Amino acid sequence: MVDASPNLSSLDGVTSLYRRFRPSRFAEIRGQDHVVRALQGAVKNDRVSHAYLFSGPRGTGKTTAARVLAKALNCENPQDGDACCVCASCLAIAKGSSLDVIELDAASNNGVDDIRDITAGAWHGTPGRWKVYIFDEVHQLSKAASAALLKTLEEPPQHVVFVLATTDPHKVLPTIRSRSQHLEFRLIAGDTLSSLLHDVQMAAGIDADDATIDAAVRLGRGSARDALSALDQLVATGSPDETQPQFDALFRALVDYDAVGALKSLAVLSQSGWDPEQLAEHFAGEVRQVFLLQVAPEVADAVDADRSRLSSWGEQLGLARTVRILETFGRSMREMKSAPEKIVVLEVALVRLVKPELDASLEALGERVTKLERAAPRVVVSEPSVAPALRPIGASDAVPPASESTTTSTAAPPAQQSHDVVNGLALEFDDVRERFAQRVVPRTSRAAQLILKSAEVRALERGSLMIALPSEEMRLNTEMITQGLRSALEHEFKVPLGVEWIVDPSLVVAVASAPRSTPRPTPPPAPVAEDAYGADESVVVVQSAADHLITEMFPGAEEIT
Ligand SMILES: [Zn+2]
Repeated sequence: MVDASPNLSSLDGVTSLYRRFRPSRFAEIRGQDHVVRALQGAVKNDRVSHAYLFSGPRGTGKTTAARVLAKALNCENPQDGDACCVCASCLAIAKGSSLDVIELDAASNNGVDDIRDITAGAWHGTPGRWKVYIFDEVHQLSKAASAALLKTLEEPPQHVVFVLATTDPHKVLPTIRSRSQHLEFRLIAGDTLSSLLHDVQMAAGIDADDATIDAAVRLGRGSARDALSALDQLVATGSPDETQPQFDALFRALVDYDAVGALKSLAVLSQSGWDPEQLAEHFAGEVRQVFLLQVAPEVADAVDADRSRLSSWGEQLGLARTVRILETFGRSMREMKSAPEKIVVLEVALVRLVKPELDASLEALGERVTKLERAAPRVVVSEPSVAPALRPIGASDAVPPASESTTTSTAAPPAQQSHDVVNGLALEFDDVRERFAQRVVPRTSRAAQLILKSAEVRALERGSLMIALPSEEMRLNTEMITQGLRSALEHEFKVPLGVEWIVDPSLVVAVASAPRSTPRPTPPPAPVAEDAYGADESVVVVQSAADHLITEMFPGAEEIT
């Protein structure tokens, strides 16, 4: 494009660069060589299809190419299949006054009547001339309208070309697709856009430096229309720096494992008006380029001005860390969508990236939680499980001797006795069970509480408490808590009591999640019933970040209250 056609020299400040520098013939279309080759070749060899499906992202030149096709078809003096741009037909099409080109925006004219009206006119063409119908956003046609269009495509009138443009070809009726020649428009490469903007800037006599043009290319994201609009705006505001946050300080901090520096640079960017989501998106975009420059430089579309800078950050970070940063930011961008304080998500992400040891400990915690989760046959979170009296006391179940069953993987229905005598002290089972829940468990470690939450005291026999657990894995974990539990029992009952563990898969695992209560006072001086374990099910297992981790691992878990 950018020839010296008359409209270029008349610089009126109102018309946007995009309109002024719209390609007027095939030779001016940039970055869609395969499309141009197909269309220009068809015109030249008189092999034009009756229907074309132009698909591709917005702003890549689909309707522009359709108009150029119309010009070339009706040009009085075509050159090598391209329009001359000076004959009466070319001028009329350029002005939008030609009767040979009918444009319809299917997004607003999507009814069957619109299509019938238009296609009816297709039969009344001027002999010797081509009529070109351009349907933009054709996937938005109603079903009936699509059917009417299909009917016309099945028996197309002579010298009629339908150009169906869409950003979403999969939503176009398959029968329409199959009757069209499909040409895919692609995002325009960074260097192509860059040379386009340089040419436009020269032709328009705009004073834009390389940084401004680079910024416009970045903002264009592969679209000529968006890039030219961005150039318009940048020239008007004259501040390319404001179009892109500067991340060098942040990269420096990441390279140096500098938490303070990372948070500082985030704060600076945030104070200059960038919101956390914009920052995350822009930064992830830059890191992606850093990544691509390391593994496949030819695929990276960073503009020239950025390439050496980003390559250098890539060398300093190394590939593994670059990937980790990308993954972490990807996760953060998802988390931010639902986070009330989005900036916190970013801060946490940055700290994790510069404090790998912190991340390692979280991962270890995650593994422990996963292990517990695997041990659980079922997970319920809404029912209190350690509350006493899950089973009526003195139920008339059979009473097998259960004391030897410590290592069996399943247990017979619980055997209960109403009392036992230990060291001459009579203990009522009911009383023991209640005090166990309310006074003993709160004295144990957090690990013990996590396990005991799913446990059920089944019996008191020969000086030992029989405690049922839902899984063998869980029982294996009791080794580390038994001693502490025995101490707590002795403290409460003033006599040494044994502990025997049995497995009963019919028990369910309780999950403590994100508790809102304050951490349990440890040890409770003399817990009253309301404060005690049995009354407050939300055992604080771990705090803050780990809580978050647990809710992540048990999606849908609700706090037990
Ligand atoms: Zn012409």
